[in-house]
This record gives sequence, structure tokens and C-alpha cells, in this order.
Amino acid sequence: MGKWVMIITAVILFFTPLRLVSAKEQPMRVHFIDVGQADCILIQTPQQKNILIDAGDMRSGSKIVQYLKSHGVMTLDALIATHPHHDHIGSMPDIIYNFKVKAFYMPNLTNNTRSYKLLRQAIKDEKIMVFNAKAGNKIEVEPNISINIVGPLKGRYDSMNDYSYVLKLVYKKNSFLLMADAGEQSETELLSRGMNVKANIIKIGHHGADTGSTLPFLKKVNPDAAVISVGRHNPWGYPKRAVINRLKYLKVPTYRTDRLGSIVATSDGRSIHFTYEESKRTDPSSIYFDRRSIIKKVNTGK
Ligand SMILES: [Zn+2]
Repeated sequence: MGKWVMIITAVILFFTPLRLVSAKEQPMRVHFIDVGQADCILIQTPQQKNILIDAGDMRSGSKIVQYLKSHGVMTLDALIATHPHHDHIGSMPDIIYNFKVKAFYMPNLTNNTRSYKLLRQAIKDEKIMVFNAKAGNKIEVEPNISINIVGPLKGRYDSMNDYSYVLKLVYKKNSFLLMADAGEQSETELLSRGMNVKANIIKIGHHGADTGSTLPFLKKVNPDAAVISVGRHNPWGYPKRAVINRLKYLKVPTYRTDRLGSIVATSDGRSIHFTYEESKRTDPSSIYFDRRSIIKKVNTGK
């Protein structure tokens, strides 16, 4: 437990208002918001904490703001930028100007881009507390929920994508491994250092690019389901066939925002079920979805 952990814990808990706990605990909801070729994840906890991880590209501001408001969000207990690429931080200024942000987390990195400069400006304008948290730090969200920063483990990479925070969200017996855009180099280090990457759900790295999601890594995570945040008809052909084939080989049901819109994983701490906006898929032969079903239950045994 380092100094950071204590500070981070203190920040989250300090602002926690007292609430009456209802007899039946609310579930945790993890929303993979459809922001096209980008990432944006909202976590809503049983004690009504809201955490946003990444905020799409610059075109998604009004969509994300509206989505958050329609889900009762007024305050973000934490806002996390996994790495300073435009498809992850592009609409963060809209978020910062529209919601009270109690704490902001990002890697200690700069980027000489317009989206990064606008983000810095918004942080300054709104006097947001910034924590350059790193691997080994843990955000204690509430008694049963934590977000562990498991990667990246090294200080230097060729690609900015590998600087992405790899986050493990844990709620009782359920866990989500959120890869942001981390690729093979980061994955290999996590494996060689024996990090516990096992999780019920994996948010596949880098929109399903074959820069990562290697077979040894996916085997170690051993997920019950995967989510890919990816834009329809994106020019890179994500998700790559190789990644889809690995998931298929491992028999991992896969949920894609390009086909389903926003996807919500609801966890009671023991099992997880998925709902999604609507079926946007065009490929009726896909083995991943039963078109008639809008709710799929994943039995989690970890
Ligand atoms: Zn990305």
C-alpha cells in the first residue's frame, strides 16, 4: 500500500455522502457506451457512485453528456483517461464542463495534440484534482468495489497505446479487465510478471486490433465474455479477423458496439448479464448473438 493508494482512497471516501442502504443491494452496471471508433465506459455502483473511463473522440461530447444525464449522473466520483489519444480523451472537456468531477486520473504523459491541449485547459478551468496514478495503485470506490491499476508495468514503450492503463474492476466475485488500447508488449509483461489478469469480462484492447489480444494472454484472462468497443465500417478493419478467431476458438461470447450499440453489463457481484441498445448487426450468421434475445446471462465461476 503506497502513499498514492492512501491518498486516492481518502479522496473517494472523503466526498462520500451518507446514504441509507436499502435492504436489497442495487447491482453494479458497466456501460460500454457506443461512441463509434473510440472508447467510453461508465461504471455505476450500488451506492450510486459514477465513474467514467475515457470519453470518446471529439464528436461524441453531446452523446456522452446526454447518455450520462439520462442515467442520472450529475457528479463523477472519478474520471479516468487511460492514455492521451483523441479517441479516448476527445470529449473529456465536454464532460468536465458539464459534470462535477471529484478526481481525475491519467498516466503521467503529454501529447502534442489539440484534444490533449483542450483537456488540459478544461482541467485548469474547472480546477480538477489530477492524480498520475500508476500500476500498483488501487482506487477504492466503495467497500465492495475497487479499480486496480494492473498495468502498464514498464516506463517506456514504442507505441503510446501500450502506455494505456490496464484496469481491473472488481465487485465481490465479479471482475472486468479493461484493456484500453494496450497491446502485445503490455500483455507480455503482465504475463511474465505473473499479474492476476483473470477476469469474467474483458474489454478487448485497441478496438480489436491485432496489435494485442494474443492467444496466451486471452487464455490467462480466461474470460466468460468479451466486449469490443469499435466503430462500424472503420477504415482499419477492426476488429481484426485474427482476434475474432481467437475469441471464437476460446468459445468466448463477444459483444460489439458496432453491432449492438451501447452495451450494459449488470453484475450483482456473483453473475453478470448483458443488455444492449438494439441489434445493429447485419450478419445473421454470426454465432455470437441470439437475435431474439436482448438479455444474455453469463454464468461466472471465478
Ligand atoms: Zn483507441
